Amino acid sequence: MFFLDPTYLMFMIPAFILMALTSWYVKAAYQKWSRVPAQSRLTGHQAAQRLISTGALYGVQVQGVAGQMTDHYDPRNKTLYLSQGVANGASVASLAIAAHELGHAMQDAEGYFPLRFRSALVPVVNIGSNLGWILIMIGLVINWANLAWLGVLVFAGGAVFALATLPVEFNASARAKQLLVQTGVIQTDMEARGVNTVLNAAALTYVAGLVTAILQLLYYVMLVGGLGRRRD
Ligand SMILES: [Zn+2]
Repeated sequence: MFFLDPTYLMFMIPAFILMALTSWYVKAAYQKWSRVPAQSRLTGHQAAQRLISTGALYGVQVQGVAGQMTDHYDPRNKTLYLSQGVANGASVASLAIAAHELGHAMQDAEGYFPLRFRSALVPVVNIGSNLGWILIMIGLVINWANLAWLGVLVFAGGAVFALATLPVEFNASARAKQLLVQTGVIQTDMEARGVNTVLNAAALTYVAGLVTAILQLLYYVMLVGGLGRRRD
């Protein structure tokens, strides 16, 4: 029903195009720089281990994870999960991604506030995305604007989460760039440029995610706003 609503499409088609373009750009940047070997000849896994010891992050483990671009850091078990391509690849892209995930491990180790804030939002967002939707639906069906607005408010948690993600991701990339140069894992200007390209492309994904979350929220605001006007 919402999917056939032309207003919904008006909001979501630009979001869809933005997400598709971003995802294409991220893949292109990754593919380009995963073919460029770094002079240090370290793999993502070796680089991660070097950064762990220089950063004195002794409790951090490195493990493999299936899939492509599935790399992440899990603060619950202090483990850096690297995909096969990143762990075994000795490319500029592998080093950039491994160092970015390690940036999250450093944030975790020092209790970086934006990371803690975002982690605290996870359960809220998980409940909110479903509950918000249900409240909006019921509010619309029984024509009770306040209930529908409550749904919009709960749903807005998703946009707040997407916004809170930005400083966490930008900061992890900034740490990665600095660490890679300081530890000699990245040595030339050309390699540094590659690291920048890969990490900036990845950051765009989170910006696109925020834009999508805001567009979705605006759609619900309009939908529920229309309900209020009809009642008056
Ligand atoms: Zn990240």
